[in-house]
Amino acid sequence: FQNRAMEHLANRSPSTACPRVCTTSSGETIITVKGAEGSTHYVRLLTYLRGTPLADVRTQTPELLQSLGRFLGTMDKTLEDFSHHAAPREFHWDLKNAGVVISGNIDHIADSRRRSIAGHFLKQFATFVEPAQHELRQSFIHNDGNDHNIITALPDISGEEMIGRRVTGIVDFGDAVHSHTVNELAVAIAYVMLGKEDPISAAAHVVKAYNDVLPLTELEIELLFTLACLRLSMSVTISACQQELEPDNEYLRISEKSAWQLLECLVDMSPNWANYVFRHACSLPPCPQSHAISNWLEQAEERIGPVTKHDLRSASTCVFDLSIGSPDFGCDTDVADMRAVGRTLKDKMDLADALVGIGRHNEARYAYADSQADSDSSEVSEEKTIHLGIDLFLDAGTDVYAPLEGIIHSFSDASEHSEHGSTIILQHKTDDGSPFFTLYGNLSEDSLEGLCAGNSIKSGDQIGRVADQDLDDSQLHHLHFQLIADMLDITGDFPRFCMPSQRDIWLSICPDPNIILAIPDGSFPAGGRTGEDILMEREQYIGRSLSISYGRPLKIVRGAMQYLYDDTGRAYLDAVNNVPHVGHCHPRVVGAAQRQMALLNTNTRYLHDLLVEYAERLCATMPDPLGVCYFVCTGSEANELAIRLARAHTKNTDFIVVEGAYHGNTGSLIDLSSYKFDGPGGKGPPSHVHKVIMPDVYRGIYKSDHPNPGKAYAEHVRESVAQLHAEKRNVCAFFCESLLGCGGQIVLPNGYLQAVYRHIMDAGGVCIADEVQVGFGRVGSHFWGFQTQDVVPDIVTLGKPMGNGHPVAAVVTTPEIAASFDNGMEYFNTYGGNPVSCAVGLAVLDVIKDENLQENARRVGARLKAGLANLMHKHPLIGDVRGLGLFIGVELVTDRQTLAPASAHASYIVERMKDSGILISTDGPLHNVLKIKPPLVFSEANADLLVGTLDRILEEFRQG
Ligand code: PMP
Repeated sequence: FQNRAMEHLANRSPSTACPRVCTTSSGETIITVKGAEGSTHYVRLLTYLRGTPLADVRTQTPELLQSLGRFLGTMDKTLEDFSHHAAPREFHWDLKNAGVVISGNIDHIADSRRRSIAGHFLKQFATFVEPAQHELRQSFIHNDGNDHNIITALPDISGEEMIGRRVTGIVDFGDAVHSHTVNELAVAIAYVMLGKEDPISAAAHVVKAYNDVLPLTELEIELLFTLACLRLSMSVTISACQQELEPDNEYLRISEKSAWQLLECLVDMSPNWANYVFRHACSLPPCPQSHAISNWLEQAEERIGPVTKHDLRSASTCVFDLSIGSPDFGCDTDVADMRAVGRTLKDKMDLADALVGIGRHNEARYAYADSQADSDSSEVSEEKTIHLGIDLFLDAGTDVYAPLEGIIHSFSDASEHSEHGSTIILQHKTDDGSPFFTLYGNLSEDSLEGLCAGNSIKSGDQIGRVADQDLDDSQLHHLHFQLIADMLDITGDFPRFCMPSQRDIWLSICPDPNIILAIPDGSFPAGGRTGEDILMEREQYIGRSLSISYGRPLKIVRGAMQYLYDDTGRAYLDAVNNVPHVGHCHPRVVGAAQRQMALLNTNTRYLHDLLVEYAERLCATMPDPLGVCYFVCTGSEANELAIRLARAHTKNTDFIVVEGAYHGNTGSLIDLSSYKFDGPGGKGPPSHVHKVIMPDVYRGIYKSDHPNPGKAYAEHVRESVAQLHAEKRNVCAFFCESLLGCGGQIVLPNGYLQAVYRHIMDAGGVCIADEVQVGFGRVGSHFWGFQTQDVVPDIVTLGKPMGNGHPVAAVVTTPEIAASFDNGMEYFNTYGGNPVSCAVGLAVLDVIKDENLQENARRVGARLKAGLANLMHKHPLIGDVRGLGLFIGVELVTDRQTLAPASAHASYIVERMKDSGILISTDGPLHNVLKIKPPLVFSEANADLLVGTLDRILEEFRQG
């Protein structure tokens, strides 16, 4: 019977691997062998399934769990038409028999609390499962998809794509039986939930993918949770019994401890919650009665009274924007300071001459996302940001009335997000008797005196007063009003916020209470575009050659120091943006821009303090004779000007550039950028551009074991100059980034620039250092990257970090070269050097100094690099870790000998890091280098988090 089932599966569905039965030379699948004492043994040979059992896979990604669902769905679909006379059997591991099995063994459980848990699920069986069993469809099922029987593997990498670990096979058909089809899924999710922080969400991934292949009925979905709990209960009761018989058999206890832990957690969970999550996973409305309740309320308009003395249908209201991207709360407001927030809101209300302020339902709130913006945060986790009610901002003491008749359901004191006030919940009924609830939060405790749970309430009855939230008189107090379709057996505080990942489920449980308040639609401003909308509009209106990061792009609406926030309030640790050098929206930089913007912004044709002050401050950071500045707006513009300066000075036109270099987006700079002219769409270097090999001691021709790789690589520049001379040409300039960014975060070998500069100067050329990427203290040991090579360039170009995001850039050169450029032709740059840019640039310099950020880059960078280097011992995928300060690259290879690039792995890791809340990217000509260059405010805790997260993700490649 087992053999037939495996054969059926193997023949019909090659994607769901299971062992194959081997035949003997005489064609038999089972033979008998005589034992020593005359006993008979039945012997068969099965093929081996390569892979790692799911139980041994520590990081079970949503994609892996979905692959399990898909596997089981496909298997069950294939087995639907399998039958065998031995399949319908009485079997104690058949969930059909859960009642008998549990009740028969329950007394073997010694611990009384645990016995009562098993008893609870036994009762659930009798109440919910048994009466519905005749309605469940039946088929042949494997019946033991526990995590030790599920085989996973890393698929071969096809091209650029790395898809991660997937379920590939199943073993052990010993428990196969003809039973209710849904039991297959119930067994599997019972084990998937073991040890998970959020067991229901983990199970939902399996359920979703199973349903995609083999759609579940609403009844099957509803019973799934209880069936899974019953399977666990069977497992622990059977194991309690077996242990009495065989106390030394360890295998009998293989999942007992974790099964009890899980049961202890699930016994307190509302089965409705699991049902809603699973329904949502199957694309059904999560809370089935929610829609009918909202519809009924819409029809019951004449029975609904106002909640306060203001009838919101006609009263003047002011809808606040408390969302993550609210322009009302910039980097200068501390949203944790209720008084400051209250004052802002009060001002808005006064301006709008409004009687009631409104806080929106289904709003992702900034105030509750903000706990991440703390540099010592050791994780970036999902916060409960989504508001499930409507806030009514009113004077303290305002009377609150019941809008509908009902009874008092319950009370609770101070809730999780408000330190002040009490809550009352009323229970109501629709005409057909469906219960629903309304919640009133932030009421004063004394206003609830005399009210008791169970009391009847009529529409219009006073049920409390808005609490005085200990703010001063000028500030706002609020009532939190929420509609609830199902109390989910919650007896304490009912949630008023939820996590974005559970948004749809909670919104179905807590629909928009404006059906009761009836604030006119017109009062609500149009919501922002969704990420999908923006993507579509980008496709239409924005040139396609602009790329976008991540498979599922992020809609980022706020930045604060080293954190970025998406529109749901999820915080991301930004480890890749070097432009917000001193931190996203650093208040000092923002303040400087705002103040100067409000005062004067014009060109450099007038005398202005800031222009000369900034030039002087910048020049003071450079070695002599670098002392003359030109201000421009972008790195590309700076490099363009550098080309002109070099040509004016040398009268030559030929450039020597480094392989993999990037210098900017203009026509002449694409010509100098091997990253572009050697990349997709590129046509190679034009005749005036000469490329030298990348001085890469990891992958290049001279490696770190070479006695003097710097000098050896520099020889190629000397040869390039000699070649030019042989062609009767002369070098104008050597253009080079001080550390190679697009080239793959490469640190130049010692002595490289010194030797190169000597060759170039000997030939009468000038040396240009492109510091657009790495300047302003990022390398930690020095303020400028070129200083680490102990050279003085003739021209230095600056950009990106200079304005912390404001477009300001510069060229700094010697008085001699500046004099050559001063040939009568005026140099005018409309925006370069404007007072706002100078104010911003000065503020950046001040912050770097005052916050000791160069030293921070040195210290945190060293810790980060050491942590990453340490991972090399564990993870063969890491070929090299390199960098200076907070400019770090991790090069990934599939083979440390051949250095075969692990490009697909690198892209996969970047996506997984993003899913874990950390932003990095890939670079290098082979796209196999993880690029790390965070804002310099990056903390040691951030560094440790990055290393720990990367370790965990790399672990996914190690198992099996
Ligand atoms: N030089 C280097 C080294 C760069 O990395 C960049 C930008 N990536 C540029 C120049 C061009 O700067 P921008 O994009 O501001 O024009």
